[in-house]
Amino acid sequence: MDNETDYEIETILSTVFGGAGGAVSPPIVQTSLFTFDSYDAFEKRFKGETDEDVYTRVHNPTVRAFETMMAKLENGEAAVGFASGMAAISSTVLAFVKPGDHIACVEHVYPDSFKLFEDMLAPLGITTSYHPIEEFENNPDLLKGVKLAYLESPNSLMMQAVDLQKVSAHAKRHNVLTMIDNSWATPIFQKPLTLGIDIVIHSASKYISGHSDVVAGVVVSNNVNVTKIRERCLALLGGKLAPFEAWLLIRGLRSLHARMMMHQASANEFISRLNTLSCVKKINSPAPNSVPGLTGRSGLFSIKFNETVDIRTLCNNVNLFKIGVSWGGYESLILPTKITLAQTGAQNSMQHFNVADDIVRLSLGLENVEDLWADFKSALDKSTI
Ligand SMILES: *Cc1c(COP(=O)(O)O)cnc(C)c1O
Repeated sequence: MDNETDYEIETILSTVFGGAGGAVSPPIVQTSLFTFDSYDAFEKRFKGETDEDVYTRVHNPTVRAFETMMAKLENGEAAVGFASGMAAISSTVLAFVKPGDHIACVEHVYPDSFKLFEDMLAPLGITTSYHPIEEFENNPDLLKGVKLAYLESPNSLMMQAVDLQKVSAHAKRHNVLTMIDNSWATPIFQKPLTLGIDIVIHSASKYISGHSDVVAGVVVSNNVNVTKIRERCLALLGGKLAPFEAWLLIRGLRSLHARMMMHQASANEFISRLNTLSCVKKINSPAPNSVPGLTGRSGLFSIKFNETVDIRTLCNNVNLFKIGVSWGGYESLILPTKITLAQTGAQNSMQHFNVADDIVRLSLGLENVEDLWADFKSALDKSTI
């Protein structure tokens, strides 16, 4: 398929909904429970002889339509939706670790994933160590004795990309389960399961939703892993994806390919222009194919400026760019690390990983790129001495 998000939506509508009367968009099955015709049918379901839906915490047709599309897009056997990216991450990690286990994690992991490991799992006796990507790639024994390798690649602040084929080869030798947060690249630009990674996680709140109107998560893997996650941590921790959010995500997926192409084109344009400016010290954005299997560049990158730029003035003078967290929607966003570094509270991953305070992260949205550049350049001129 040229445009890989041209799903056979008809196939999904007919397998999940029996055709839905020719509708091109799936029904939102807004129900908590599903009833049975007879005592015998109910008994058969509970004996596991049939597989009808019972209760929306674990199974719902609209959610299943989204999961089916995601599994297909990531080349996995199955997927499971969650109420947020963090519900997906915490439920997936907890499905596979127990006290005494050790997790090896990449540096610059998403701040709340870091807090999950440090504030919640460490007190339960599940420890985590953090390593630069070079160690994951070049030290074949890094994963010896480790239960789980937790990757985020490219990560969402420094945009470092790790060679997934190398890591999965090391992990397989030591029998280590590998997970990746693939939110930055989306399956349009990277399909980790095809590179040997075991489990792919997304914050669907970002590019998959694409419109900054949903908080959701999803996990893709083989049938065995997905069943384990669904039956243990989805069912028992209960962070389920709601049918309406699943419906919005299905809508998002159908334009994901087109949106990623535009995010990429705008990012390429910005990066080549920024590279000509003397106030720019470094741009953090992995070039396509800088690691095997990473085929494109998303609209999320960060810039390290030299001391001539006043970042407060820059943020106060952009108009099209809004100041805020998250990314992946229509609206372009700017995030200064100086503010996130100063966030109070016990475990601040940005402090832990020694992030510099002269970095701004941009999420280029879907506005006209010339308008975005004019807006950014004029604010930059005002803030440069
Ligand atoms: C936003 C984000 C998350 C968390 O997802 P939520 O949907 O906000 O819970 C995880 N990983 C990355 C890289 C993110 O950007």
